[in-house]
Amino acid sequence: MSSPNLTPAEHARNILERDRAHVWHPYSSFLAPSPTYPVASANGVRLTLTDGRTLIDGMSSWWSVLHGYNHPTLNQALLDQSQAMSHVMFGGLTHEPAVTLSQKLVQLSPEGLNKVFLSDSGSVSVEVAMKMALQYWHSQGRPEKNRFLALKNGYHGDTFGAMSVCDPVTGMHHLFAQNITQQYFAERPQSRFSAAFDPKDLDSIRHLLATKTDIAAVILEPVVQGAGGMWMYSPTYVREVRVLCDQYDVLLIADEIATGLGRTGKLFACEHANISPDIMCLGKTLTGGYMTLAATLCNDKVSDGICQGDAGVFMHGPTFMGNPLACAVANASIDLLLASDWQSNIARIDQQLKQGLEPCRELEHVVDVRVLGAIGVVELDYAPAMAEIQPALVDEGIWVRPFGKLVYIMPPYVATNQDLHALTGGIFRVVGAL
Ligand SMILES: *Cc1c(COP(=O)(O)O)cnc(C)c1O
Repeated sequence: MSSPNLTPAEHARNILERDRAHVWHPYSSFLAPSPTYPVASANGVRLTLTDGRTLIDGMSSWWSVLHGYNHPTLNQALLDQSQAMSHVMFGGLTHEPAVTLSQKLVQLSPEGLNKVFLSDSGSVSVEVAMKMALQYWHSQGRPEKNRFLALKNGYHGDTFGAMSVCDPVTGMHHLFAQNITQQYFAERPQSRFSAAFDPKDLDSIRHLLATKTDIAAVILEPVVQGAGGMWMYSPTYVREVRVLCDQYDVLLIADEIATGLGRTGKLFACEHANISPDIMCLGKTLTGGYMTLAATLCNDKVSDGICQGDAGVFMHGPTFMGNPLACAVANASIDLLLASDWQSNIARIDQQLKQGLEPCRELEHVVDVRVLGAIGVVELDYAPAMAEIQPALVDEGIWVRPFGKLVYIMPPYVATNQDLHALTGGIFRVVGAL
């Protein structure tokens, strides 16, 4: 334990020493630890480091924070729910927070998604979606339809099923190739979000759907591919894939874990394409960044099929399913979002990010700048060393965590124009100095 008479800087060093001795971080090494910063507290869009510095948060703790940290309404929802019950099992019991949340998600999500399976994390919600698709085809007497078709550069999570549909090369999972089901991968669409759609983009996926008879479902991140490349593509592609799925009798799974709840300017990215998937995954943003919670929604075709099948039930049930604390804070967070003028707010952020990041295009090493809604990306021609770029960003007073060749931000929706200016200005200066 740290001693009470340490200075803030000593306290931070003390935490870090113990951290480096024992604690795994995401995609981390004990032999070559990357820069890591102890955080003492977070409020609004600011992280306060243990050493006393404050940083403007550009990451929303991996897309999840919407209304800022330490929000009084969300704090209160959590406190109130903890005084009623923090958790009860979901087998044979139910409760208001989970029922209200499920009903809310059904009302808000694309038409036809009527059934909700609550789970603990995004990856698990993808596993659940994949199991739903497999059980559906089993019940239809088509057990041979048991493969998935995903897009190159996609990201769907780190568990085994989810890994199998991540990009096979950039997906960071090739090490496990021997243990992973081989799935089908279509080329990612090249047509950008607001550019004219090139119908050639469909050739790869159409060819696979036309020639493979064992495909249960297509899984994709509609309109924005997140961790697999931060790529924003034409909604027409999503609309045409819906048509192809119907034509070839394949289910469509939309992974909206990163895009759900307003990030792209629509409540769900599927709305840009005006389609409804058969199954939809939500996570990250669901509790406004407070707790881990995910949901897999499906339409009646899928739920009826599963329940009429041999097993008679859907075969999944996590211990902490429908956790009341998480559901209560999710309800409060969604209500806050809907009570705000979120569409104009996201349009404001979109405009600020474009204005602030566009000048990066002129910098050496920058090959692309793209913005959609509250997502801004600067793509470089090489992957800078974390040990170099991370401390430089922190010295700018901003929390931005680059990934490979991508320096990107998706700030909390409550970021002011001044906050956004600090984030984009900091990125401009740091990238300019590379
Ligand atoms: C983050 C993410 C996941 C995985 O969610 P976890 O909560 O990290 O398991 C899956 N799909 C997409 C699109 C994501 O962005």
